Amino acid sequence: LEVCILQERPWITINGALMNSIHRGFILLATFSLQAAEKKFSWAIIGAGHAGITSISVLLENGILENEIVWIDPEFNVGRLGKYYGNVPSNLKVHRYTNFLNRCSFFQTINSTAIEAIKNYNQQEEPRLQLIIDALQDITNYLRSRVTTYIDNVHSISAKEGGNSWDIKLDQNPHINADKVILAIGSRPKKMAYTTSEIPLDLALDENILKSMISAEDTIMVIGSAHSAILILKYLSEIPVKKIINVYSKQPTYGELGGLEGITAYWAKEVLEKNPPHNLIRIKYHEGVIENYLQECTKIIYAFGYERNSFTVNNSNELSIDGETGIIEPHLYGIGFAFPEYHINEAGLAIPLIGVNSFMKYAQQRVPLWIKD
Ligand SMILES: Cc1cc2nc3c(=O)[nH]c(=O)nc-3n(C[C@H](O)[C@H](O)[C@H](O)COP(=O)(O)OP(=O)(O)OC[C@H]3O[C@@H](n4cnc5c(N)ncnc54)[C@H](O)[C@@H]3O)c2cc1C
Repeated sequence: LEVCILQERPWITINGALMNSIHRGFILLATFSLQAAEKKFSWAIIGAGHAGITSISVLLENGILENEIVWIDPEFNVGRLGKYYGNVPSNLKVHRYTNFLNRCSFFQTINSTAIEAIKNYNQQEEPRLQLIIDALQDITNYLRSRVTTYIDNVHSISAKEGGNSWDIKLDQNPHINADKVILAIGSRPKKMAYTTSEIPLDLALDENILKSMISAEDTIMVIGSAHSAILILKYLSEIPVKKIINVYSKQPTYGELGGLEGITAYWAKEVLEKNPPHNLIRIKYHEGVIENYLQECTKIIYAFGYERNSFTVNNSNELSIDGETGIIEPHLYGIGFAFPEYHINEAGLAIPLIGVNSFMKYAQQRVPLWIKD
């Protein structure tokens, strides 16, 4: 039921039929509908990982009003980082998180002990990720007190007729309408369909959980060659385990742009490359290699990459983004792990730029353009 009080004579429409009814000198224009009223916003941000948090903060920094924004996430607990990676050692030294927090003028308006803790921490240390998660959770809580939020999952979105706004269908709540939508929906670990007992990557990245999931009799295959895989090899080399088989596709590289950093880089350089554990064998990937070695394995960990979370957009699951502008479709934009910016390295490889500072730089470059779009 929608009721609008307009002028001094009442009209009521019931399923489109116009009825005349005088009531206290006002015109009532009412439309009865079985569907609940659709809520309308200028901006919808889908996802509350650090890309979603950054997007909203940069929108506010650029003058968008709090009541123009709706934010949707099933949990609001800092995305994958907050849910699984608190005990993972950070790739970055603390000063890079301080830099991230100082970069956005909106963050300066938030009173948070977790933000202060980062600024007062030893800036040269590589902490556990819980340090930055706590600050991002405080920012989330503050943002949630200012903008409209829905604890829900987006089922699909579709452009409304005329293409001037988006209809957002939620699992539990009525539809929402927004002029512009930012997808900050993150990614999930890729998998293969082998029947060997799997230790999910998100759990394997926490050394305490990993320890609790294996025994000294296990032979474990780890598929992958980048940060997650190397970190897991380090953990496994420190636990009693029969054998570790690493199927890799490239040798470690080091440094800020897509290479290993932090203690993972240190371990790869000093241990893996110079003095690898006696129970670790590394095999370069080629067809059939996984099947060959899997016969002796009791557990498998897929650590070879992530794939974008998704839902249907205009009835399609295929999304492509213009890397320069961040535009997916008119008035639909992408950011974060699901839509990273790429750096092309000397070998011509495209390296995704993921991490707090990359997302902030990306948002501060593109959001002002999206506002004008
Ligand atoms: C081992 C490891 C170590 C890392 N170390 C660091 C580090 O030291 N420093 C650093 O800065 N980064 C680090 N990263 C990178 C960082 O974890 C990711 O870049 C970051 O978590 C991605 O944030 P995001 O917001 O894009 O996605 P996510 O954190 O995945 O958040 C996406 C959000 O969208 C929501 N969502 C998805 N689909 C829907 C839907 N249909 N409806 C509503 N909501 C939806 C999800 O619930 C989730 O909350 C590391 C990553 C890994 C794997």
